[in-house]
Amino acid sequence: MKDTYRHQGKRQQLVKTVKKKGIADEKVLAAIGKIPRHLFMDSSFEDHAYQDKAFPIAADQTISQPYTVAFQTELLEVKKGDKVLEIGTGSGYQTAVLCELGAKVYSIERQRELYKKTKSFLSKIGYRPKYLSFGDGYKGLPDYAPFDKIIVTAGAPEVPKDLLGQLKVGGRMVIPVGTDVQTMNLFIRKSPKEFDKKEFGAFRFVPLLEDKN
Ligand code: SAH
Repeated sequence: MKDTYRHQGKRQQLVKTVKKKGIADEKVLAAIGKIPRHLFMDSSFEDHAYQDKAFPIAADQTISQPYTVAFQTELLEVKKGDKVLEIGTGSGYQTAVLCELGAKVYSIERQRELYKKTKSFLSKIGYRPKYLSFGDGYKGLPDYAPFDKIIVTAGAPEVPKDLLGQLKVGGRMVIPVGTDVQTMNLFIRKSPKEFDKKEFGAFRFVPLLEDKN
């Protein structure tokens, strides 16, 4: 598991690309510049790791496009010490970005194979999320709620009510909503009963799936 000068050089190019596409948050850019994305992917895709593209990982899933990861993270406005819930651990790349920003990360993955693989991989490369859970993200993590921030990294046909309910007042949730194409939604909880909603551009995610049981 090497991170060579060549990898580092390509990574700085990726940071420039993402910046050009409109990402301005320096902390987010620094995280992209630091995390060895090639290690989160199958070695057969290693040569492409620093292209601004999504790639296949295990269990028919994908590692999100770096621009998308940066866009969602920027909208989330993560502060050091924030308690953040992520739905869709996948490769763990987004988890690592949140850890770099100093968040206490709780993440849920419904594919057992990915859950296991990513759990051991993240600890191997030194990332320590607070809690990785195997289960259905639609339900969130009621035992650990409320959260300052919630990020959903799979396309949700509709907004899961349980997740909105696990957001602190003042908290933010970023979620791509739609079936074939998704619109990025930002929810800000104004009071126990009131949410502000803003919509951003179109993205393509793998689907947020209902529990197998
Ligand atoms: N954050 C990941 C993106 C992975 S793609 C990364 O940076 O690599 C989305 C992930 O969401 C997939 O791993 C998929 O298995 C997972 N997923 C889909 N539906 C889910 C659900 N209901 N609960 C938890 N995870 C889910």
